[in-house]
Formats: sequence, structure tokens, C-alpha cells
Amino acid sequence: MNQLKMIEELCNAYGAPGFEDDVLLLGRKYGADLADIKEDSLRDLYFYRKENTGNKPVVLLDGHSDECAFMVSAIKPNGTIKFIPLGGWTPRDVSAHKVLIRNDEGKWISGIVAAKPVHFMTANERGVLPAIADMVIDVGATSEKEVREDFKISMANPIVPDVTFEYNEKNKVMLAKAFDNRIGCAAVLATMENVKGQDLAVDVVGSWSVQEEVGARGAQVVANVVKPDIAIVFEGCPADDTFYSGCDSQTAMQKGPMLRHIDMKMITNPRFQKFALDLAKKHNIDVQESVRAGGSTNGGPIHIANGSCPVIVIGIPVRYAHSHHCFCSYSDYEKGVQLATEIVKELNESIIKGF
Ligand SMILES: [Zn+2]
Repeated sequence: MNQLKMIEELCNAYGAPGFEDDVLLLGRKYGADLADIKEDSLRDLYFYRKENTGNKPVVLLDGHSDECAFMVSAIKPNGTIKFIPLGGWTPRDVSAHKVLIRNDEGKWISGIVAAKPVHFMTANERGVLPAIADMVIDVGATSEKEVREDFKISMANPIVPDVTFEYNEKNKVMLAKAFDNRIGCAAVLATMENVKGQDLAVDVVGSWSVQEEVGARGAQVVANVVKPDIAIVFEGCPADDTFYSGCDSQTAMQKGPMLRHIDMKMITNPRFQKFALDLAKKHNIDVQESVRAGGSTNGGPIHIANGSCPVIVIGIPVRYAHSHHCFCSYSDYEKGVQLATEIVKELNESIIKGF
């Protein structure tokens, strides 16, 4: 498995919440040798490790497959397109960016989020961004008829940021859209590959769950279907090191994966968290710890499903998450996968029961 190539293909794939199909094709491509693959009607993808026995505790490795995106809500008479956000966007990160709209024939149409030229702005308009509800996408058409009949664009078509993956070999830093959470999707399969053919004391199921960005919906189904005894959630989580320093920076790029003790939807199982942090120390894997006052992950629904489940989140720092252009360190990713691999190799029934 060429992991860098897999990450490149994953980040370049288009997967608005509810429309993750193109991402799933890559799961089938890269996961076929490792797992028996199943899918549900939401498009959650399940990777059942080929060596599973059916009588050992089940470890779930989860990463969500969707990305922050948009959806066409209306087409105006002048041929511009209204849209709603799918996931957490601020107006600042939407205006003047290039996007792709999937039309009714499945073709991706280039569009620009229209930004009023400075020449037309009143003094009051300068420095103030319109609400996303007041923004439109321009595909270069001049009428509603043209948009509908020539571009084949209609209501509810998904829209994604248009960004192509780049890699800087010198510092091993990647630039792309959608590291949140394609980097986590890659980590699920890379961890499974690391233990391929090995004799484990646990069964392993990977999941690429859908619709995390609109409220962790796929993960609720995944938890019900897999009924994990323990879970590791991989997330592309926002890096803070270009905004904060010292003790206020808890998620820096190039300092290893981040293990959160708390976020808005989960207080991390402190026993499992300590087990993971101790293992990181033992294997000299750089990790960061955080106490998050905001945000949440698929750990939210998974840790309170099926009568409770110990969960940790291995976060790979992503600079400028939930915007078009993001940076992510390949070394941080590698360390996250290494830590998850050591955890999976070490876990057994009595350890899990102790959590
Ligand atoms: Zn995410």
C-alpha cells in the first residue's frame, strides 16, 4: 500500500456529507486485500479484518469519510446559484473560493463563490462579509435556463471545494482539502495493514462512517452494527500552532498526533487514554494532549452506544481545518498510525475489561 498515494487520492476525492460514494471506491481499492468489505444504505463502509475469528473482543477503528461541503438550494433568474453549507463553515472561508458542483449527469462543474468587487462596495460594505445565505455561486452562466438546461445543475446537487493535493518532500508536509477526515480514513487502513497476518488477541473492524460533519450520523449506525468492545477514532483535528503558543498551543503540526481528554461530546475514558499515552511513551512516539473546550468527533456517539464503549481519539493536526486549503504533516500521520498499531497489538480481553 503506497500510503502517500492513498492520501492523495482520498483528499482529491469528492465526498460531501450524504454523497461519499467516490471516497468509498477508494476504500474498496485499498481495503480489498485486508478485509471483507460491507456497506449500508447510508454508505457507511465496514472493513472486517480477514483474520477475524468472531469470538474475540472487537476493536473498532473509525474515520469519517465525508468532508465539509455545500448543497445547491436554489437557482436565481440571473443564473447564479444559492447554496447551503453542509458542515461547519464561516463566511470568511467560503467567499471568493473555487468549488465544484456535481450536476445531474455526475459531471463536476467549476464555479466561483461570487464576491462583490471592491469597486462596487460602499464604505459600509468593506470589511464586512455577507452571510453564507446571501452568497451565490457563479458557474459563468447568464440565466436560470442555461444553468438548468446546459449545465444540468439542479436543486440538491452536492458542492465541494476544488483543491488539488500537493506534497513538499523536504518537510513531509501535504497541502490539500479534506484532511478532515481523509487522513483518518487512510489511518484506518494503514493500521489494519500493519497487523495484516498477525495473531491478535482481538478482532478488528474498520469503518469509514458517513455524515460526521452534519452531526456524526453514520457513526451511530456503525456503533449499532459493529457493537465494538473498544474503539479508536481517527480525526483530522484543527491545529492551533499558528495562532497560539506555549501552554495555549495543544495541537501543533509536526509534534505528533493529539489525544484529547475531553471535547463537547465526550470525556475520554481516562483508563484507556492513560494506556494509550503510556504505550506512546514506551515506543517513543511523540504525542500531544489536549483539553478541548469545543469540537467533537465520532467518539461522541460511539462511546455511549451498546451500553458504553471505551474510546480514544487519535487526532492528526490539520492547519486550517474546515477551509479550502489545509496543511497536514505526513510524519504526524505516520506516528498516529504507529500508536494505533501498538494499541491493537497490545489489547486483550482482560485489559479491555479493566477500562
Ligand atoms: Zn472531522
